[in-house]
Amino acid sequence: MNGVSFAAAGAEIGEMSSRYRSAEKFMALCRDCPSYGRNWACPPFDLDVGDYLKKFDYAYVFGVKIVHPAEAVREAVTYEKFMEYSAGVFRGVKGVLSELLRALEEKFPGGAGASAGCCDSCSLCARGGGRPCRHPDRPRRSLESLGFDVGAISEDMLGTRLLWTKDALPEYQMFVNGFFAAREDDAIMNAIMSYLRGWGACPL
Ligand code: SF4
Repeated sequence: MNGVSFAAAGAEIGEMSSRYRSAEKFMALCRDCPSYGRNWACPPFDLDVGDYLKKFDYAYVFGVKIVHPAEAVREAVTYEKFMEYSAGVFRGVKGVLSELLRALEEKFPGGAGASAGCCDSCSLCARGGGRPCRHPDRPRRSLESLGFDVGAISEDMLGTRLLWTKDALPEYQMFVNGFFAAREDDAIMNAIMSYLRGWGACPL
């Protein structure tokens, strides 16, 4: 059984950008990712990210921490086992968080969601085949693809250090999402926390 906990915080976009955004540093990391140029929610973008962020005034970030069962951590000690186990967790958590982002986008016009990782709304992104996005209203760029230091955001704003590992399942994984809003609004934070609290248990 997975343990689930949540945290959320908010900051003005300008403050978030000056504290946590380093476009050059994170673009270099994105270039090494297999999704670079193959997913419409990943760089390179056909927009100026600085101009894109100017459309918003306030950013909400929220993290879901999944603590894996000790037995799974003991057993998933190779890259293959780690990927096999975490792919299921990732899909489940991302599906639930996608619903939250969609609800926020509908309820608070002018806002935009930022997902954990690249967009996987389709089984294979149309960009790889040189075709336009099948759901142009749906691709949500991740915080890291926009140049934000998600590790620092998670640690400073959400109180959880990210555990980086490629070859074995870590004790826990933290999924950090964001919602860029036209303005600060307590109703947005209330909606986020109310949705997350209603989760109750890992959907796996
Ligand atoms: S909605 Fe589909 S085509 Fe568009 S970015 Fe996401 S995976 Fe790619």
